[in-house]
Parts: sequence; C-alpha cells; structure tokens
Amino acid sequence: MLADKDRIFTNIYGFQPWNLDSAIRRGDWDDTKALMARGQDQLIEDIKASGLRGRGGAGFPTGMKWSFMPKEPKPGKPSFLLINADESEPGSCKDREIIRHDPHKLIEGALIAGFAMRARAAYIYIRGEFIREAETLFAAVAEAYDRGLLGKNAAGSGYDFDVFVHRGAGAYICGEETAQIESLEGKKGQPRLKPPFPAGAGLYGCPTTVNNVESIAVVPTILRRGPSWFAGIGRDKNQGTKLFQLSGHINTPCVVEEEMGISFRELIEKHGGGIRGGWDNLLAVIPGGSSVPLVPAAQIIDAPMDFDGLKALGSGLGTAAVIVMDKSTDVVRAISRISYFYKHESCGQCTPCREGTGWMWRVMERLREGNADISEIDMLDEVSRQIEGHTICALGDAAAWPIQGLIRHFRPELERRIHERNGSAPLAVAAE
Ligand code: SF4
Repeated sequence: MLADKDRIFTNIYGFQPWNLDSAIRRGDWDDTKALMARGQDQLIEDIKASGLRGRGGAGFPTGMKWSFMPKEPKPGKPSFLLINADESEPGSCKDREIIRHDPHKLIEGALIAGFAMRARAAYIYIRGEFIREAETLFAAVAEAYDRGLLGKNAAGSGYDFDVFVHRGAGAYICGEETAQIESLEGKKGQPRLKPPFPAGAGLYGCPTTVNNVESIAVVPTILRRGPSWFAGIGRDKNQGTKLFQLSGHINTPCVVEEEMGISFRELIEKHGGGIRGGWDNLLAVIPGGSSVPLVPAAQIIDAPMDFDGLKALGSGLGTAAVIVMDKSTDVVRAISRISYFYKHESCGQCTPCREGTGWMWRVMERLREGNADISEIDMLDEVSRQIEGHTICALGDAAAWPIQGLIRHFRPELERRIHERNGSAPLAVAAE
C-alpha cells in the first residue's frame, strides 16, 4: 500500500484550495527554473528512467514518446504539446479531479514537458461537459501568467512558453489523439489515418505530442524526487503511482492514488470499503474503463492491478477506472449498454465501425432477451474480430473487446437465456 509520503496528488480531494498560493505551499512551482536547467535531453532521460507509462490508457512509455519530437524544430514548424483532458471513457473520473483540485501540477508539468520536447506552447483540450473544471483551469492558467510562470521567460527559465485551454463539445471520439487535433483545428473531430504520426505532422501540420492529464501532472514531482524514487514503486515495467477510480457495487466508491501492481483485493478492501454483500457476491470487474474486457471474480481477486497483470488476464489497465459488478448485475444488459455507447459515439468514417457497432448492439439486445439462435453467439464473436484491428482508430477495438470478454466468460449465461426463451433445455442438461 502506498505510503502517504509517496503521494503525488496531495490535494486530490480538495481539502485545501486549488489556487497558486496553496499549490506553492504544497510544493508545486518550487524552483521550476532549476529543474529546467537540467536541459532538455536530461529531462527526457529522467522520465525514461522513471519508467512512467502513459496514464491515458495505452500505457506507452512517456519519455520515449517525447524523444520522437524533433530536436531542432524547422522554421515555421513549431512543436506543440497537446494535453488530452477529454476524459470521456465511461468509468474514468481522475483527470477532472486533478483539474478541479490540483490544476497547478498540470500547468507546471505542461511547462516542463513542453520545454523538454522543445514545444512552443501547450494546448489543454478539456471535455465540453467539464464546465466548473474548465473555469478552474482558465483561472489557474491566468494566475500562472500573472506571476510570470508562463509566457515570456516562463518561471525565470529564459524559455518562452504559452498554455492555451480549449473546450471541446462533448464528443467521445475527440479523446482520440488525431480526432482531438482535428477538433482543435476547428474541423469535425474525426480520427486521421496514421502515419503520419502526430510527432511528425500533428496540430496545424507541426510536430505534436499528445499526453494525458495525469501523465503530465506527475512529471514535476518525478523530477523533484528523482526518477529512481518513482521507478522504485510498483513492479518492473509497471512502475509508479496511479490514480484508481473505483465505482460500481462497492461500499465506498472513490478516486485514490495507489501504487501500481496493488492487488484488486487490497485496493477494494483498503479504499472501496469492500464489495457490496461481501466477496462471495462479486460477479465480475471491468478493470480499466468501459473499453476493456471484463474479468470474472475468481480471476481478478488476487490479480495485480497494472498494465501487465491485467493484460495477462486478457483485459487491460486502461485508465484504471475499475467498475465492480456484483451478482445483482444483469451482465448481458450491462455489456449491451456499453455497445450502445460505442455505436452512438462512432464517428462513422469507416465501414466496420459505423455498421458493425450498430449491428453488434442489435444482436446484443436480442441476446439480452434470449431472442437469438445459439449459432449467433459465435457469429457475434467473429464479427467483433472483423471489426477489431480493421478500423482507422481504436474505437472499433473498444466496441469489440467488451463483447469478446462477455462471450469468453459468460457464454453459459447467453445460452441459458436463449434456451429459457425457447423453452428448451441446454444440451448438457438434456443429456443428463
Ligand atoms: Fe470513426 Fe469508428 Fe473509424 Fe474510429 S473506428 S475512425 S470512430 S468510424
């Protein structure tokens, strides 16, 4: 369990004010100039050494991502940092807590990360529905400008750096990095084909790195305390602390910072107040936001909650939005509802996603009622695999995986509904 002294987000519950003076008292903006004086290459090396992997879901090594940016921006082609604050994944609710209560961690991180990748400015793209959070963020950025921490000679470092806050309009797909770039450019938020990758041609055709809010907000503390401190928490290749978001059928849902690799049982016992009705009442868990496959109770209880631990179970850490379902859950209905979400949010550019998400949802609705043929279960699985990996962006995968997880782990339940509706007994039972 993470010791209090190792917490990065010391005001995540908003017990203290978010403003600059309070943030400075908590240690933010403490001689930022000296951190930047280490030099751009050293900062990137430090982040690589810390083992930090992106906190937005994909888990790509952050320092390596920064190193893809050009060392010498070409004339007329400035580099940009784009901070993804779109946080639209069902179950995810951590970035908004950072912005509400600790926005200066993000703004200081933006300056340092932007400097390290030789960016001219950072854009923070914040989800449209986050109205109060956007107000706080605008005010916090204004405070930083007033104190000379941003703008010309930011924080006395000799480096000129701007931060712009941009509000989205509530489309899930604008959380995808290239759709976010399109939206920021004033176009329809539709993902771009890659390559080119944003580090080559991103915002306005210029080199751009897109990072999640949490990935950037932890940077100043990692640099202050040293990469080996961060790398010493958690497991190999799964290092550091992480904001977990616990929701669903637990007694005390919350957002909590914990060490990577903590077991599911310990996470729920220590912070979630236990499973509603006790551990025997646990049915399944979606461990990383709605796009990752669910994991049945028996497999997840003692699993390490990190990238590799959950990958080994055929699921993923995603954003660490842990959705707990007890035995009162209609699991088919739950996954069908998630299918509806992805159908609704498909941007419609590619056929497998545009047509496939709607088709899968309609079959899921029939399966929910048992109004289907047994053979349609395999057909649904096969169609989901024809969508997965065959689309421009990962929304196709996100729509396919929850259904694949349901079929993998709850096929008997799907079959039971069909037999119940048909008034026929399952084959195994009939044979008895
Ligand atoms: Fe749009 Fe879906 Fe294709 Fe992504 S996968 S580009 S959301 S149609």
